[in-house]
Amino acid sequence: MSRLLNDFKAYLSKMQQYEHVTTLLFWDMKTKAPKQGQAAHIEALTHFSAENFAMSTSEALGNMLDQLAAPEEYKALDDTWKFIISRMKRDFDRNRRIPADVYEAFVRAQAESGTAWEDAKRADDFSIFAPHLKKMIDMQKEITGYKNPGKEVYEAMLDEYEEGMDSVTIDRLFQELKRELIPLVQKIAEKQQPEDPRFHEYCDPDAQKKVQWMLLDYIGFRRDSGAVDETEHPFTISFSSKDVRVTNHYYEHEPLSSIFSAIHEGGHAIFDQNVNPAYDKTVAGSCGYMGIHESQSRFYENILGRNKNFWVPIYDKLGELLPQFKEISLDEFYREINHVKNSFIRTEADELTYCFHIILRYEMEQAIFRDHVPVEELPALWNQKMKEYLQITPKNDREGILQDVHWSDASFGYFPSYLLGSIYDGMYLEALEQELGSVDELLKAGRISEITKWLNEKIHWYGNTRKPKEVIEAVCGKEVSAEPLIRYFKKKYTEIYGL
Ligand code: ZN
Repeated sequence: MSRLLNDFKAYLSKMQQYEHVTTLLFWDMKTKAPKQGQAAHIEALTHFSAENFAMSTSEALGNMLDQLAAPEEYKALDDTWKFIISRMKRDFDRNRRIPADVYEAFVRAQAESGTAWEDAKRADDFSIFAPHLKKMIDMQKEITGYKNPGKEVYEAMLDEYEEGMDSVTIDRLFQELKRELIPLVQKIAEKQQPEDPRFHEYCDPDAQKKVQWMLLDYIGFRRDSGAVDETEHPFTISFSSKDVRVTNHYYEHEPLSSIFSAIHEGGHAIFDQNVNPAYDKTVAGSCGYMGIHESQSRFYENILGRNKNFWVPIYDKLGELLPQFKEISLDEFYREINHVKNSFIRTEADELTYCFHIILRYEMEQAIFRDHVPVEELPALWNQKMKEYLQITPKNDREGILQDVHWSDASFGYFPSYLLGSIYDGMYLEALEQELGSVDELLKAGRISEITKWLNEKIHWYGNTRKPKEVIEAVCGKEVSAEPLIRYFKKKYTEIYGL
């Protein structure tokens, strides 16, 4: 190994120590640290993040990357290090173009905007958030301009979260979905089922936690490389493939919420636990393509977890842990977890109407960045689109435009990745069934580990090293298409609702 590569690895290892500490601080802040302890945590987190940022934008790192990217040195690297060097060099060059004062002002404005969004949501008053949202839009435009000069702003932001999934592709996919799913949802709406109050009875949080462990074990989460804790809004965090942590929130009257969060976050975690360990603690490791990552959590949560057969081998166990489910048949349970209902809140939406929550946000973002619709007009545009796609009108902005955190920190372009994840899932399902046979049969026979193994080998192992379109091509052998997801929805809901 060249002296240069050795020095570079030593430098990376130093940076990793900062990252390790910031990850740990973040985890502790979101799970265990008391309210009064938060401020000190934020201070420490800011300190170590700044140190890490300084190292990741230093002259020294730039010089090493330049030298390692030069043809002679680069040729001598193995594929993993080729990826690491080219990815880090790209990001370094992008970030270095942002003037330090602009970046600092952005970080501060993000924090202020986050607080304003919380206040606005609590007070149900969009005018509190509006000036901050405008600032986030303007600053994101400026920053994106530095990072990707010459590239159209919204296109560059989409690329940030799901590289290569350009708006022409996304438009095509979402149009296909709209054309086929609007009539499907309308047919289902005519067959609405009444609410079943038994699913909202009191449910001991400790018992819910036991169910979470039962589910994590069942789907293949490795206990020796993972941990579980409680938080407000569930998330997954990784140190490396050897230490992946999931969180959950146990609502006393909504056991289904923690059950499906457990499976969803478990899906993210299984991905991170099964990345090639040679990639640990480098940019080749944890997958940074949000659509691809979300495709795994949503595959477990929806494609597997909302399939009746998933529950066949474990439904009795669920009843032992949560006694109220003993009184509910598996058929009734299956109906409830696939209850399609036009509703206001994205995170509570069913698998099918969820698509429209994302399409709406994608179109809103295009209205902001391409049609330059003024911020003041956005709430009305939101409500108009809700009416168009789901035939309901929010009573207030809290259940409308103020519901999501994403725009408050300028994460424009993030939303489409959730739905892209589901679109990929439709494709994976067809590829998987061609190779392993019927998923219904595999699940019914308790052979879910074979499905996990297939996903491990086809997707997880490669971590961040394959771009979304390359993953789809490698796993499915074809171009990305929404048709498999549409076929899946039509088959599933035709059966459930007797359409
Ligand atoms: Zn997720």
